[in-house]
Amino acid sequence: MVAVAFALPAFSATVAESAAPAAAPGHAGKPFPQAPDIAPIGVRIDKYIDLPDVAKGPPIDGAKGYRLEDLGRGLYMVTDNGYQSMFLVYETGVVVVDAPPSYAAKLKQAIAEVTPLPITHLVYSHSHADHIGGAGTLGGKPIIVAQEETLKFLKRDADPARPLPTVTFKDRYVLHVGSQRLELSYHGNGHEPGNIFIYAPEQKTLMVVDIIFPGWMPFRRLAVSQDIPAWLDQVRYIDTLPFEKLVGGHVTRIGTHADVRTQIEYLDDLKTTVGAALKSTPFVADINPADGGNAWALTGDYTARVAVQCVNALAPKWSHRLGGFDAFAWDQCYAMEQSLRVD
Ligand SMILES: [Zn+2]
Repeated sequence: MVAVAFALPAFSATVAESAAPAAAPGHAGKPFPQAPDIAPIGVRIDKYIDLPDVAKGPPIDGAKGYRLEDLGRGLYMVTDNGYQSMFLVYETGVVVVDAPPSYAAKLKQAIAEVTPLPITHLVYSHSHADHIGGAGTLGGKPIIVAQEETLKFLKRDADPARPLPTVTFKDRYVLHVGSQRLELSYHGNGHEPGNIFIYAPEQKTLMVVDIIFPGWMPFRRLAVSQDIPAWLDQVRYIDTLPFEKLVGGHVTRIGTHADVRTQIEYLDDLKTTVGAALKSTPFVADINPADGGNAWALTGDYTARVAVQCVNALAPKWSHRLGGFDAFAWDQCYAMEQSLRVD
């Protein structure tokens, strides 16, 4: 295969010019010209980039294994600095929102620090086991509230660790308990169908899971969202809401509007960078002529060269501004590349 005109001169080396012996089929060959220093997916990193201060939260008491944060007027966040959930205390009981299995066994102890009242209600943010898979261990017979799409997933999954919701809703549900209130609303497929917004109006606290990651890179592949444009829209929509505290379901601390805006800035940068790389990168470069009939080889090589440009462009701006840049940078460049090509 003859090299075509290349936007990046360093990409113009052809196989014929290479003096190095060919790698075994399927094995790594020469690195791409201008390969970033950030290790690619699947390669061990000896030492990750130090976390910026913005990614650090209050420490976890190692003996307890969780941290309790008072969000005001009977609302509390529980976290192990990897996951986050909430509970709301009212006159005769407690409403639990999510039960991540990573600390669900300690959830009753955390509640007992504040009140002896029983758990009467459970709210599921969405169906994923990593956020609600501790629900089955809480005991009792709480009323379980979720969006109707979540019920569909949980019926399919038939997981005893995630008991089925007993109350479902389509667009909106207000949970009144004593003098407390939680406003549940559904805004479409952000992250996965059924993922809801949980707003405590008195406490001006919004919980919405797997959308905003305060101080951190979003989780891998843009929070493994099924519909990336819809997820991006929800990030922007969240910034229009009147909360003061945001519980995002992950990592070290609660968030603010400033965190949402930083994430919007990062995602805009990612989208612009990948869009430009998709346009400027030739589809065929110096692939081995013997792979000429291999459609997936051509595509894999092209998307890798787009991702190389993406990581190179983002690293100077973001690798010390968001926690975990080196863990997920490649992954997110690939996710955005895929979305921009097909969505
Ligand atoms: Zn999830």
